[in-house]
Amino acid sequence: VIEHGQPERSVVTTCAYCGVGCSFKAELRGDQVIRMVPYKNGQANHGHSCVKGRFAWGYTTHPDRITRPMIRERITDHWREVTWDEAIGFAARRIREVQAAHGRAAVGAITSSRCTNEETYLVQKLARAVFGVNNVDTCARVCHSPTGYGLKTAFGTSAGTQDFDSVEEANVMLVIGANPTDAHPVFASQMKRRLRAGARLIVIDPRRIDLVRSPHVRADYHLQLRPGTNVALIDALAHVIVSEGLTDETFVTARCEPEAYAEWREFILRPENSPEAVADVTGVPAEQIRSAARLYARAGNAAIYYGLGVTEHSQGSTMVMGMANLAMLTGNIGRRGVGINPLRGQNNVQGSCDMGSFPHEFPGYRHVSDAAVRATFEREWGVQLDHEPGLRIPNMIDAAIAGSFKAIYIQGEDILQSDPNIQHIAAGLEAMDCVIVQDLFLNETAAYAHVFLPGSTFLEKDGTFTNAERRINRVRRVVAPPGGLADWEITQALARALGYPMNYTHPSEIMDEIARTTPTFAGVSYARLERLGSIQWPCNDKKPEGTPTMHADTFVRGLGRFMLTPYIPTEERTGRKYPLLLTTGRILSQYNVGAQTRRTENRVWHAEDRLEIHPHDAQQRGIHDGERVAVRSRIGETTLHAQLSDRVPPGVVYTTFHFPETAANVVTTEHSDWATNCPEYKVTAVEVMPSHTP
Ligand code: SF4
Repeated sequence: VIEHGQPERSVVTTCAYCGVGCSFKAELRGDQVIRMVPYKNGQANHGHSCVKGRFAWGYTTHPDRITRPMIRERITDHWREVTWDEAIGFAARRIREVQAAHGRAAVGAITSSRCTNEETYLVQKLARAVFGVNNVDTCARVCHSPTGYGLKTAFGTSAGTQDFDSVEEANVMLVIGANPTDAHPVFASQMKRRLRAGARLIVIDPRRIDLVRSPHVRADYHLQLRPGTNVALIDALAHVIVSEGLTDETFVTARCEPEAYAEWREFILRPENSPEAVADVTGVPAEQIRSAARLYARAGNAAIYYGLGVTEHSQGSTMVMGMANLAMLTGNIGRRGVGINPLRGQNNVQGSCDMGSFPHEFPGYRHVSDAAVRATFEREWGVQLDHEPGLRIPNMIDAAIAGSFKAIYIQGEDILQSDPNIQHIAAGLEAMDCVIVQDLFLNETAAYAHVFLPGSTFLEKDGTFTNAERRINRVRRVVAPPGGLADWEITQALARALGYPMNYTHPSEIMDEIARTTPTFAGVSYARLERLGSIQWPCNDKKPEGTPTMHADTFVRGLGRFMLTPYIPTEERTGRKYPLLLTTGRILSQYNVGAQTRRTENRVWHAEDRLEIHPHDAQQRGIHDGERVAVRSRIGETTLHAQLSDRVPPGVVYTTFHFPETAANVVTTEHSDWATNCPEYKVTAVEVMPSHTP
């Protein structure tokens, strides 16, 4: 960590890691950042931070940074440094050639949740207005797309319902498939403060996460379910609440669709949803399910917080709707201390979704088939827009392998490491005529790129990030991008090279366009952000200072909608050959695929991914602590060191996915959420055995 001397100046900006969105003061001497100091007026973090935001920014000046555009030589396969004009011209020419030969729909784009709102907005605009297709998707496809589907279906919009500070009024927290201590540390501290003050806690997780039992905090119930059985468990909780008369009938009658509720009520009371029936499926004793359901329903204020352990399943969207059912059933929505709160993994995953990074939705979650919405963007952008939804990332890869999808522009996303079944992703990239990678480093995906455009870090650009509580925070330029261009300027240059007039002079002008076209952002401007510090959308004439709590008087869709949530077992089954279930997660000091944190001092805390295995399973296989083991699934095989641990129950193994050497996604399954294609990272049948590889 560089920490020397007194700073000469400082710039307030926002952390580029998790969805808490902490504000920091970047302190500089000359043009060198010497420290990141948590900003005491930060409205998401109130002066707190974790080891990632505070110390893990060294990657911004790491020697691995690529600072010149490059084109891959056809003959030698080597990268050649070129000028921006040559690189952008090359990319534009290839895109034109592909579209001339294979049709408009043969190209697409992927936005980045580590880029700003303004930058993701521009990439989807490039795809829609310049490429002429809705083939645009985002990394949320592989994390929180079921949140989008489930919350929009139940409530009418895809976003967490509360601000973080609302937890101070929760009497009961229900934490499902999330490990806040490692993945959202600053918010985890806020949760722990509230728990120490007397709030009660229910954890639903196959693994004993830190919140279950840590100094001064103990969960009242840890429902340690079998991976892949979330939906059965949430249905059983609702079954108890209805059958024991714990429903908030006043709320349900006033706020929810009566026919949908009546149908759902009949469904949830079926015997197969009772705790006794579900105990066998989930492995959770019926009496624990009953007690936890009573605690949640009688809390007064009960808040749900959840993570990727909910969404990354074949029934991810069903589970999100199941949680929405539970909150509506007990009236735990629409005021402080309650609600449903997705803990977003990436700093701007909420924002990239808000900005229209989905192939079926314009900014503000409006379907591309809506003629009135299309007309708004056609007027603003001066083009005719396609009314058919485009391709999702997995569809783009499948189409590439089938020969109909030929070019992709990837803004800050390493799909070859982050997406499941990476052998399949590699085959798709290999089959394309033009892969444009815009990133900080030559990542795994760049091995298949034809042109590389050096991206900028959060310290090098202006813009906004939107955190998990819908809070739009300013990102301010601290130093100049070493490659000369911020990410939004690269996208703009590509649009121009393709003949489209894109002429923003500052990201604030992009935000002004977002405000003109997107009702939930109607009142957002850089001037208002400066005045208020941050804004939680929706922000408009009715709520000029933003909206900390959503759905207070009415749901965005009018009446809330109960949805039937039958449990359907995943097709990923254990058996004689693959008897264990592998699930994955994160660790405090590292972040996602590790491209940033691995290039910082944080590596000393966690230098490799390890496989947690229960001592009983290890003993059966002759595996000792620290020994190298092979993990084999139906998809592939990887090796890593074993760590004997009773955090996982017998039959379950667990690893993180921060290191490409381990490449956990070599083994993860190809099953995905039925509604959104979000991969089922959390359930893979595997066998583990001692490895003879050193
Ligand atoms: Fe805050 Fe998350 Fe950054 Fe840690 S990683 S400082 S919790 S935004």
